Amino acid sequence: MASGVIEMSDAAWRELKEHLLPPNCQIEEGAFILARHKITGEQELVFQHIQTVLLTRDDYEFQESDYLELTDATKGRLIKLAHDQQTSLVEFHSHIGPYPACLSPSDMAGLSEFAPHVIWRLKGRPYAAVVVTESGIDGLAWLSQKAPPMMLNSILVGNQHVKATGLSFRISRRRTYEPI
Ligand SMILES: [Zn+2]
Repeated sequence: MASGVIEMSDAAWRELKEHLLPPNCQIEEGAFILARHKITGEQELVFQHIQTVLLTRDDYEFQESDYLELTDATKGRLIKLAHDQQTSLVEFHSHIGPYPACLSPSDMAGLSEFAPHVIWRLKGRPYAAVVVTESGIDGLAWLSQKAPPMMLNSILVGNQHVKATGLSFRISRRRTYEPI
């Protein structure tokens, strides 16, 4: 499997970005999308946006300038929503500051448990996580519970690719295959 792509309309992407990075934002924000998935002839894992769920203050256990953690109730609600609609979940959150988009070490640590858990709860449907900054995006996609994450290649907004930096994938490979 080469890489992952997320497809959504221009309006859906605009709504997400405005929520994740409001003017003068001081804290991270999060959102999920419900998505159908398919695997193309080029072995690309494609998530197709169906619905957006914007998270609010009550959805977070912690909401800081450099850290977000969802409440268990919100995690349960999102998984149930995706379960009922027979879709995948894709998470989005923002990083504040001038750095290139890359999932943080604590994001990676959380995802190494959360992604397989959601895949299991959603009957094997794949999962993806995306970080959005002022300058770009990055993320990882999991095809199955056991497989290591693959690179998120881009978000296809209408017919325009918003390219991912690929940094999270490089770091995840280093962690998986080149232990220190
Ligand atoms: Zn993060």
